[in-house]
Amino acid sequence: MVGDFDSALTERGGIEQPAQVSPYLQRRRSRTFSVDDYEKGIRRGDRVILSRAITLIESLNPQHQAVAQQVIERCLPFSGNSLRIGITGVPGVGKSTFIEAFGKYLTSLGKRIAVLAIDPSSERSRGSILGDKTRMEELSIDPHAFIRPSPSGLTLGGVARKTRETIVLCEAAGFDVIIVETVGVGQSETVVKSMVDFFLLLMLSGAGDELQGIKRGIMEMADALVINKADGDNVRPAELAKTRYQSALHLFPRMENGWNVPVTTCSAIEHTSIDKVWKIICDYEAQMKGNGFFEQNRNEQNVKIFNDWIDFSIRNYFLNNETIENMIDQLLPKIQAGVITPYQAGNEVMRAIRSVDS
Ligand code: GDP
Repeated sequence: MVGDFDSALTERGGIEQPAQVSPYLQRRRSRTFSVDDYEKGIRRGDRVILSRAITLIESLNPQHQAVAQQVIERCLPFSGNSLRIGITGVPGVGKSTFIEAFGKYLTSLGKRIAVLAIDPSSERSRGSILGDKTRMEELSIDPHAFIRPSPSGLTLGGVARKTRETIVLCEAAGFDVIIVETVGVGQSETVVKSMVDFFLLLMLSGAGDELQGIKRGIMEMADALVINKADGDNVRPAELAKTRYQSALHLFPRMENGWNVPVTTCSAIEHTSIDKVWKIICDYEAQMKGNGFFEQNRNEQNVKIFNDWIDFSIRNYFLNNETIENMIDQLLPKIQAGVITPYQAGNEVMRAIRSVDS
């Protein structure tokens, strides 16, 4: 009724509007969880709580970090039960397509899988063609799969530390297989190798090693070589490449654990021979668990984590001091300009650290 309005600017009440976000979700989003809530949520496989705990791990806020460390400690006794698989290969080799096919195959076997990524450049490459494409579309909606992109804005060391901690949480959440994907550049392969049980190198046929950007050192790290895109006209070249790599591997020193590195072909897009790759990994697991190398490898990795952690903590402890930070800021340009040698500068910082600490 016209008489109901005081002015033309008054809004009519209309029907009651529904909340934009389900009240259930709203409640969850705004709620702060206690360490107990995190532990219980993760242990019952609650993906929302798992994601939030990973966000805490990735946060640079010291308070978040403190909570994250407590959550990790609570989860540690329930970790260690997954099979950790690293996957690498140059961009374009088909890593995401392979992980999608492989992941779907594993979930069809009733396995729960988590996919983590290590990409120290993820902040920079945002918006690039590769960054824009939709990755692992099917797997990302599979209720038995959990996909988490690489933490961004960190150095490789930082990404590695956070990914190791994320593995602990994913294992406590009951994932049977953890896949760690790396972009095939620089040092990230070594880092992934240091946190997985099995390291798989995806390759292409037809391109020389140089073209693929695969260094001998990376081939030496691999527990299996898989030549992807063995479909259509590429089946024969893929088989040829397989023979070529098999002979190349004969020239490599024998692995200490007694494993003969297999070479196989597959097509991620046509989902062919994905089961063969899984069989290789299962054989490896059985053999290594039988000869004690599975445990030995994990123990050695733990020693490395410990050493890295000590290095990181000591560095943080001493360098998180304004005087020292300022001193380093002033010394860096002098080193760059050649006014002072790195040793002189280093000794100066050490002297200052000792005086601060005493
Ligand atoms: P990534 O950069 O290593 O993650 O590679 P992608 O999974 O994004 O794949 C790069 C391109 O190769 C895409 O166009 C895929 O469709 C294609 N591709 C991936 N796997 C296969 C395969 O098995 N066969 C063929 N023919 N193409 C593939």
